Amino acid sequence: MGAMNAEELAKYKGVFVFAQQVDNVLSGISFELVGEGKRLAEKLGTEVTAVLVGSDVSGLVDELAAYGADKVIVVDDPELKNYRTEPYAHALASVINEFKPEIMLVGATAIGRDLGPTVSARVQTGLTADCTLLEIGDFPVNPIPGKEQKHNQLLMTRPAFGGNTIATIACPDNRPQMATVRPGVMQKLDKVEGAKAEVINYNPGFTPNNRYVEILEISKAVSDIKDIMDAKILVSGGRGVGSAENFKLLEDLADVLGGQVSCSRAVVDSGWKPKELQVGQTGKTVRPQLYFAIGISGAIQHVAGMEESDIIIAINKDPDAPIFDVADYGVVGDLNKIVPALTEAIKAELA
Ligand code: FAD
Repeated sequence: MGAMNAEELAKYKGVFVFAQQVDNVLSGISFELVGEGKRLAEKLGTEVTAVLVGSDVSGLVDELAAYGADKVIVVDDPELKNYRTEPYAHALASVINEFKPEIMLVGATAIGRDLGPTVSARVQTGLTADCTLLEIGDFPVNPIPGKEQKHNQLLMTRPAFGGNTIATIACPDNRPQMATVRPGVMQKLDKVEGAKAEVINYNPGFTPNNRYVEILEISKAVSDIKDIMDAKILVSGGRGVGSAENFKLLEDLADVLGGQVSCSRAVVDSGWKPKELQVGQTGKTVRPQLYFAIGISGAIQHVAGMEESDIIIAINKDPDAPIFDVADYGVVGDLNKIVPALTEAIKAELA
């Protein structure tokens, strides 16, 4: 991957986001990326364009416009009915080569983690995976004597070294600057009904080759667990809860509050709760209005997934537990006493 010269770099303009859809329903990350893309585009004095790839998907354009997309490029082809790496990568790489965006954002979902790196390799640029923060700024951030400081670069921040540090990465010499972004981290904009986007239909042509896998059957996991990323109130338990059975205390609290139970990785590793309920770096990133951290120590990898919650209440018997550093309210004591008392008090209050 050679560096582009200034003339080539200057050809790339605008912020593009991949509008992921599954079964012709837009995924939440698509709106989050449009919102974040718009914020970045405003800083660059440009526009946000959603790239919608699928079969019979033009009905989704207005929804993207309502959440802030200025333009929507639609790649519509029967070959794109279900996600497959090859035709989707061809679609997105072709859009990049044709329209030359300076920034291309993709969700760090199962689909995006496959698509993003494939496309970045194909268009010969870099990609920063799993970003939790994006900004426009100078790079290097602090001037280094003898090194040119470039302006208006995409500064991509992500946890590194197992979450023990945070790295800010830029892609100053190639375009587009590509990142995958964790779901649940960026904020979507308020929906504006009736908003319209400019629509560009583009089809690069799809010729099946031996990389077009044939889908024989799609079997979907059936789960009655509600996504913790949608919850407004989360009652999260850690190793301190002690056992799967003892989670009943947290479920009772969640019930009276109309919330949901989630957990730390220690709980998943112990087999007390399924992985879908895990909050943190290798679990889900959540931002509920209210987050209870009960018997959770507050390891950096856990905090990375919940620190954006509006209000954090920690219950822990160790007054020095790091969770108290991020908590808005803290109760030091035994959860086996405090949680039932809290549940009863709230019940009484609501009665
Ligand atoms: P502990 O750290 O064991 O804490 C238990 C807490 O409960 C203690 O603070 C203790 O004081 C308290 N306690 C005990 N008994 C009581 C009681 N009766 N009443 C009140 N308090 C009590 N972790 C995640 O959560 N999510 C992730 O996504 C994640 N990803 C990781 C990725 C990597 C690469 C690595 C290396 C680690 C990751 N971890 C993750 C693990 C993380 O480092 C911690 O080990 C984990 O979060 C600890 O879980 P915990 O807080 O439940 O348990």
